[in-house]
Amino acid sequence: MKTPFITRDQLAEITAHYPTPFHLYDEKGIREKARALNDAFSWNKGFKEYFAVKATPTPAILRILQEENCGVDCASYVELLMSHKMGFQDIMFSSNNTPQEDYQYANQIGATINLDAYEDIEHLKRAIAIPETISVRYNPGGVFELGTDIMDHPSEAKFGMTKKQLFQALSELQELGAKYFGVHSFLASNTVTNDYYPELARQLFELAVEIKSELGISLDFINLSGGIGVNYRPEQEANDIAVIGAGVHRVYDEVLLPAGLGEVKIYTELGRFMLAPHGILVTKATHRKETYRTYIGVDASAVNLMRPAMYGAYHHITNMDNPQGTSEVVDVVGSLCENNDKFAVQRELPVTTIGDTLVIHDTGAHGFSMGYQYNAKLRSAEILYTEDGSARLIRRAEKPEDYFATFAGLDFEMDES
Ligand SMILES: *Cc1c(COP(=O)(O)O)cnc(C)c1O
Repeated sequence: MKTPFITRDQLAEITAHYPTPFHLYDEKGIREKARALNDAFSWNKGFKEYFAVKATPTPAILRILQEENCGVDCASYVELLMSHKMGFQDIMFSSNNTPQEDYQYANQIGATINLDAYEDIEHLKRAIAIPETISVRYNPGGVFELGTDIMDHPSEAKFGMTKKQLFQALSELQELGAKYFGVHSFLASNTVTNDYYPELARQLFELAVEIKSELGISLDFINLSGGIGVNYRPEQEANDIAVIGAGVHRVYDEVLLPAGLGEVKIYTELGRFMLAPHGILVTKATHRKETYRTYIGVDASAVNLMRPAMYGAYHHITNMDNPQGTSEVVDVVGSLCENNDKFAVQRELPVTTIGDTLVIHDTGAHGFSMGYQYNAKLRSAEILYTEDGSARLIRRAEKPEDYFATFAGLDFEMDES
């Protein structure tokens, strides 16, 4: 069973002030999550979480994580700019197909550059002097398995470099003046198992031992990146970060310590795991339609949450006004002129009445941030449910003026009508 982090009455107070749809975030949950992660890896002296900005690029959220000792992982110029303006000191730049100007800016603000491709050394050389600290992104190819489960297919992923390229890159970068090196890898996404990180860590730790023996380079850090998932489905069990941290610790002691690599810092770039469960999309039922199926029309649409339309992703839905009633099978749909604009397909839900408030769960990461403006829909507001139980607007909803603002040579006069 999935329960929202807010009660019906508390939410009704917020919807009385702010029109739906909006994304709502739980400050307490975010802080607790960050503390649990930092605790789970406190055995590692240099541990740092670099929150993946793309998951929730909202300054008020980034500020909470900053206060909880997290850095940020950026992939674009504007993410770097925003992070720098917020005063982040610990910035990872894990980009790909990177423009030279982005390397220059990343370097200027002291971000650590994580090179995606062997060929990027040439691009980097043209952009800047090789920095003292640099990271390289590894792609072992093949399939990533846990036991007999195939988790993902790194050989089909556009990211990272082969092992041969990685060794070549490290030795060239060293010749070019780099002194401190890291290795990064992201091999499976949204893993709902406590075994992913320890297995990834084993592969990267063994690689670090090889790097030391072949190149004489002792890595400064190993970046396990993102990929720890969340239990979107109510029957799934949430990952336990304490168990995951202990699992990585065990492999660290087994593989790195005997090789004289006990100083290696562990970094993570978690996005989904940190934020997804601590955000909800709040929407109201506005229509019912009976044809070959029953449709519940809501005031949110795929522009507010793209994952169901894009990946067929499951997001649990709670009807706050009728959480336990008699059920019916419905499609919950938005108002886009697109038939994939469905938050739920043939889902059994308690009977929905027009006016009911629905909560779509686990939208705190890759939710608002993947939003778009198709059908000239405007981006929604984001609201923080603070630790003291109040609601704070952290991003206002877009207005038509925002949509019109980029039209070149055209100035619509806005009036009240
Ligand atoms: C997307 C991304 C992450 C975060 O992934 P999650 O699945 O949200 O944890 C981390 N690192 C890189 C390089 C990414 O592209």
